[in-house]
Amino acid sequence: MYRVKEAFYTLQGEGARAGRAAVFCRFSKCNLWTGREKDRATAVCRFCDTDFVGTDGQNGGRFDTAQALAEHLRALWPADSEGSHPYVVCTGGEPLLQLDETLIVALHRQGFEVAVETNGTLPAPAGLDWVCVSPKSTAEVVIRRCDELKLVYPQQDAPPERFLDIQADHYFLSPMASPALPDEGMPDPVRQSNTARATDYCLAHPRWRLTLQMHKLVGID
Ligand code: SF4
Repeated sequence: MYRVKEAFYTLQGEGARAGRAAVFCRFSKCNLWTGREKDRATAVCRFCDTDFVGTDGQNGGRFDTAQALAEHLRALWPADSEGSHPYVVCTGGEPLLQLDETLIVALHRQGFEVAVETNGTLPAPAGLDWVCVSPKSTAEVVIRRCDELKLVYPQQDAPPERFLDIQADHYFLSPMASPALPDEGMPDPVRQSNTARATDYCLAHPRWRLTLQMHKLVGID
């Protein structure tokens, strides 16, 4: 049984593949937070701005088989897309709680190139075409090789230096732009200051590149 909060067709908003059309599959549940506000203060990851609880979102649901989920996602790719390579980004929540080799095979059978965006705390199954690791707080990262490392910055317990021994083709800093605590919105000056701090860090440490949430800038999901 696969539990999916929501699934939708959009443009990848961040990182090395920003701007590329993709079906996003947001799996339910995370291992670093329950998703409930009452638990945020004691969670490992406290700045999450994503609703990953349940299966009631757009195109969400429970899928008994990998094939059923793969077909459901394939139907979200435009029919008239000759010459394109269908691309699915598995995210969450924490997708590696559910994404397994069986589902990757089923997605490949539907013609998808398969990417995952994970917090890196669980081993990745074989067969993934693109792995993006986004470390969170003090959580130990067990994936030691990935295509891109994308760190939300700044995080008090997760300075970029801590992750340089993870092999990646791309190292990105993404300025923190979400509420840090329940009911506590992040005013624009703070957001701008995080962007400025991330910019300064990249200038001082050129291995790191700045990535912005393009999907928010252009007003899509
Ligand atoms: S690891 Fe990701 S999905 Fe889980 S609570 Fe943190 S930001 Fe949200």
